[in-house]
Amino acid sequence: MSEQQFFGHIIDGEEVESVGGERLDVWNPWTREVWAQAADGQEADAHKAIESSRRAFDEGPWATMGRVERAQHIHALADLMEERTDDLARLDSTNMAKPFEEAKHDVARSVWNFRFFADHQRDHVGEVYPMDTGHHTYSEFGPAGVVAAISPWNFPLMMASWKIAPAIAWGNTCIIKPSEDTPASVTMLGRLATEAGLPPGVLNVLNGHGAPAGATLTGDDRVDRVTFTGSSTTGKAVMASAASHLAPVSLELGGKGANIVFEDADLDNAVYWAVEAIFRNAGQICLAGSRLFVQASIYDEFLARFTEAAEQLSIGDPFDPSTRFSALASRKHFEKVSSYVESAKELGGRFHTGGVADDGSWVVRPTIIDSLALDAEPYCEEIFGPVCVVNSFETEEEAVALANDTRYGLNAMLFTENLSRAHRVSSVLRAGTVWVNCFFIRDLRTPFGGVGDSGVGREGGNFSREFFTEPKAVVMQIRR
Ligand code: NAD
Repeated sequence: MSEQQFFGHIIDGEEVESVGGERLDVWNPWTREVWAQAADGQEADAHKAIESSRRAFDEGPWATMGRVERAQHIHALADLMEERTDDLARLDSTNMAKPFEEAKHDVARSVWNFRFFADHQRDHVGEVYPMDTGHHTYSEFGPAGVVAAISPWNFPLMMASWKIAPAIAWGNTCIIKPSEDTPASVTMLGRLATEAGLPPGVLNVLNGHGAPAGATLTGDDRVDRVTFTGSSTTGKAVMASAASHLAPVSLELGGKGANIVFEDADLDNAVYWAVEAIFRNAGQICLAGSRLFVQASIYDEFLARFTEAAEQLSIGDPFDPSTRFSALASRKHFEKVSSYVESAKELGGRFHTGGVADDGSWVVRPTIIDSLALDAEPYCEEIFGPVCVVNSFETEEEAVALANDTRYGLNAMLFTENLSRAHRVSSVLRAGTVWVNCFFIRDLRTPFGGVGDSGVGREGGNFSREFFTEPKAVVMQIRR
C-alpha cells in the first residue's frame, strides 16, 4: 500500500487531529484498500468547531464585511479550486470510484456554485416597498449566524459546495461535516479556504461519523441553521434534533425519480438520457431516473435499445479515460444494492441485463428489470444504485398515476415531442423538478428541492437567500 494520506479537521484555519486522536479509515472502493485516514470527530471536536464558527461570526469581520469584499474572498477560493481541479477530482475519484472526467465536471460545478452565490449576494441586497403613508419601507437580508452543513458521499465536493457557498456568501460562518466515507475533497476545500485567505472559522471542516460528529452539531443551540443532504431516514432525525433549539432546517433527501417515455418521443434522445439518468455515477444520484415508464406501443423497441446502450457502458478503473461506470462507493453500499438485486430476483423480476459482478469487486453492473409488482421493495424503495425498474403504460393518465405513486417527489422526466402534453404532464407531476427531453440541467437561480420524503425547503438563488439569512423589514417615517 502506498504512503497513506491524512485528512484532519480544519478548525480556525488549521488542520488538526481529533482532541482524543481518534481516526477512521478511508477506502478506495475500486482497489478495495484503505488509502487514507481521517480524523474521527467526537463531541469535543464538534464543540471546538462550533466555538470557532461562533467566534468568527460574532466578532467579525465576515458577517459585517461589505458585500463586494466578501464576494472577492469567495472568488479567490473559487480561483484556487479551479487551479487545483485535477487534485480535487483525483480525491473524489479515488475515494468513491467516480470516473475521473465526471469528477472534474463536479469540480467545475462546485467552482460555479461559489462564483454564483458570491455574485448573487452582492446583487440581491433587498427590496424597497414604496408606501403612501409617509413611510419608507425596505427589506434587508442579514446573515443568520452559524450554519451546520451535513453532506453525503455521492458527490462529495459538489454537494458540500451547494451548502457552503450560499451559507458563507450571505455572511454566515459554516461548519461542514462531510460523509465519513468521503472526507478527502472537502478537507482539501478547507485547506484551500485557508490558503485563499478566508478569515479563520468562516469555513470549518468537521470530519467523522453521523453520530457523534453530525448529531452534536444539529442539536447545539449555538447553531442557527441546519442544512442537510442525505437519506430520508437521517433527515427525519436531523429535523428532530434541530427542532430542540428551533433551528430552521433545509433537507435534500432521497428520491425514486420517474422517467416517462411517450410514443411520440425522439427515441435516440430518450435512450441517451434514460442511460445517463440511471447509470451516471453508477446510479448513486438522488435524482436518478430509477423508475422508467414506457408507452406500450414502443415498449419492446425501447427496452431493446435501452438494454443495448446500457451494455455498451465500459466498466473499469475510474482513472481509465474509457471508463464510464465503476464500483459502488463502499462495501456497505455494495452490499445494500446487491441485496435489492437479489430480492428483485426472488420476487420474480425479469432481468434484461445486469446483476452483481461475480468477481469480488464492488461492482453492480447496469441492471434493467421489469415485471416487478408495484409494491415490491426494489420497485418502491430508493436503491441508490444502477438498477432501473421498468413498466409500461397505455395512456397519459396512467403514466402520471404511476409516476406519482411514490412517497418521494424529488424529480421526474418526460420525453415527448408534443408541446401541449409536455406542459400538461409537467404541471401534474408531484416533483420538485421536472425535466422535459433532458436530465441533470440546473440553473442556480431556480428552486431545487423535493416533495414528501424527498425533502423540506428549496435551494437556489433567492430561495437560498431566504434560508441563509434573517430577512428584516425597516420602516422609516419620512413625513410627519
Ligand atoms: P446518510 O443519510 O446516511 O448520511 C448523510 C450524512 O448525514 C453523512 O454525512 C452522515 O455522516 C450524516 N449523518 C448520519 N446520521 C446523522 C445524524 N444522526 N445526525 C447528523 N448527521 C448524520 O446518506 P448517504 O448514504 O450519505 O447519502 C445517500 C442519500 O443521500 C440518498 O438517500 C440520496 O438520495 C440522498 N441525496 C439527496 C440529494 C438531494 O439533493 N436531494 C443529493 C445527494 C444525495
